[in-house]
Amino acid sequence: MKNIKKGDKVKIIGGKDRGKTGKVLQVFPRERKVSVEGLNLLIKHLRPRRQGEKGQRIEFPAPLTISNAMLVCPKCGRPTKPIFKTGSGQEKEEADKKSARKRRYCRHCEQAID
Ligand SMILES: [Zn+2]
Repeated sequence: MKNIKKGDKVKIIGGKDRGKTGKVLQVFPRERKVSVEGLNLLIKHLRPRRQGEKGQRIEFPAPLTISNAMLVCPKCGRPTKPIFKTGSGQEKEEADKKSARKRRYCRHCEQAID
């Protein structure tokens, strides 16, 4: 679940938006879903509130299953499953001081993602 966070770039690997990429707007941990900017768009029709008024159509990104989204490494641009580690050398010492906060690392280029 911690693989993907708000603000990450993800690539969609399943469903009708397969192959597209976008920015994560929101993560829904309980539902195991994410909403991605511009993807899985649904149109909501709002009925007119008063007589003579027009109804409105609102487009919004519906949450999609998290297993259909894969993190895109901001460093090498490849879709990746991040590895979690506490860093190395000096970085690791710093991390240890901060009760070993784990960071995400790209499996391809081995760069820290955050
Ligand atoms: Zn990478």
